[in-house]
Amino acid sequence: MNKLPTTVDVTVVGGGSAGLAAALASARMGAQTLLIERHDRLGGMGAVANVHTFCGLFHPDVASPPEWLNPGIPEEIGKLMMQRVGTKPEVMGSVYVLRQHPTTFSQIAAELCANEPLLTVATNAQLTANRFHSDHWTLEIKTAGSLSEVTSSAIVDTTGSATLAPAASIQSNADIRLHRPALIAEFHNVLGELTDSARLQIAGGIVRAIRSGQLPEMLLGVTFRASPAPREVFVTLDLEAGGMEWNPGAPTCVENAFSSAKEALLKLWQHLQVTEPAFSSCPEPIWPSDLGIRESTRWIGDYVLTANDLLQSRRFEDEVALAGWPLEMRETARGPKIRYFTRPAPAGIPARCLRASAVPRLWFAGRCISADHEALSSVRVMGTCLATGQAAGILAAQRR
Ligand SMILES: Cc1cc2nc3c(=O)[nH]c(=O)nc-3n(C[C@H](O)[C@H](O)[C@H](O)COP(=O)(O)OP(=O)(O)OC[C@H]3O[C@@H](n4cnc5c(N)ncnc54)[C@H](O)[C@@H]3O)c2cc1C
Repeated sequence: MNKLPTTVDVTVVGGGSAGLAAALASARMGAQTLLIERHDRLGGMGAVANVHTFCGLFHPDVASPPEWLNPGIPEEIGKLMMQRVGTKPEVMGSVYVLRQHPTTFSQIAAELCANEPLLTVATNAQLTANRFHSDHWTLEIKTAGSLSEVTSSAIVDTTGSATLAPAASIQSNADIRLHRPALIAEFHNVLGELTDSARLQIAGGIVRAIRSGQLPEMLLGVTFRASPAPREVFVTLDLEAGGMEWNPGAPTCVENAFSSAKEALLKLWQHLQVTEPAFSSCPEPIWPSDLGIRESTRWIGDYVLTANDLLQSRRFEDEVALAGWPLEMRETARGPKIRYFTRPAPAGIPARCLRASAVPRLWFAGRCISADHEALSSVRVMGTCLATGQAAGILAAQRR
């Protein structure tokens, strides 16, 4: 890790999709920028939780060839991913997606950051406190057992859970409708192609094994998707995680959800080894570092983006990014409920969703932007997080 600077123009807290884009955009605007990430690598959910598809990168009209929705960093990262892993946009349902690889995403992120002379990246670094003074912030950052203080003219919160503003943020489980978490494991040495009919056959076998009591019921909604890497398959298990009691901010709750999902997926792996020839020489799955958390706490900004804004493809005078992914409600572990925009046209995301006037010199982006529960089910996807991150980085650098 580079030594932490004592004074910077912009600090970006959280190195997921949004934070990566915010930091790159800020440094490219000429601001001395610090990006801090508590994990050992960048990429957030797209790296440490094995989320393996970029959604929201393309215009929502699938009747036309794929068109990048947000120019700049989202397009740059999408194109690099296509070159490195050999994927291209595919139609899934009525939207374009781009398969990505979590390891490659971290590598691309590290390389892009290393090319920016004004950007310092601190991994294994956690923000532990923040305080606003009349025209700057002081941040307390913990790295390898030591505490440092950094003075920053502006901050971007891309922690995914509005970590910088507990007092001003919205606890989205107040209405008890949090999108469900999931565990995504990597299965290696899977033989043959994972065609739709192969997937159906596997699903049928799992249902039969659940009915006969051989496998736990929580495996009912498990999904399989081929990775861009050969012989690798991502297996996603959506979780009820205690239903109403699920609290993504409580470490014990997250650990319990992780271990119960891991136990179920281990049983599935053992079952597939004997029942599905394609999985017969599969070693124990590789586990992600983190549980996949779709929704936790987010900001209430100067404007709260609504489901209706998105469904009506509403545009705003102060829009700084575009959303094109449908509302993908995942309130139970039994699969998504999808609502497409009324017309195949993007919706705007106003700058007011990335700031709260009461909190000066601070912007937010990614899955903690100011949006209601339904709207979040669209704007939380990585393509949109890259776009709101880029916008917040530019705004922070301009107002430093
Ligand atoms: C199971 C699942 C499936 C999904 N499927 C898709 C999909 O198919 N396609 C898609 O595009 N999106 C998908 N998503 C959504 C998407 O992955 C996330 O919403 C998106 O990655 C959020 O990006 P972000 O940068 O806002 O937050 P995150 O990726 O969560 O990044 C936040 C970062 O902040 C860091 N951080 C937090 N607190 C601190 C602190 N105090 N100090 C330092 N660092 C801190 C975290 O370690 C993390 O790296 C899925 C999500 C889940 C959970």
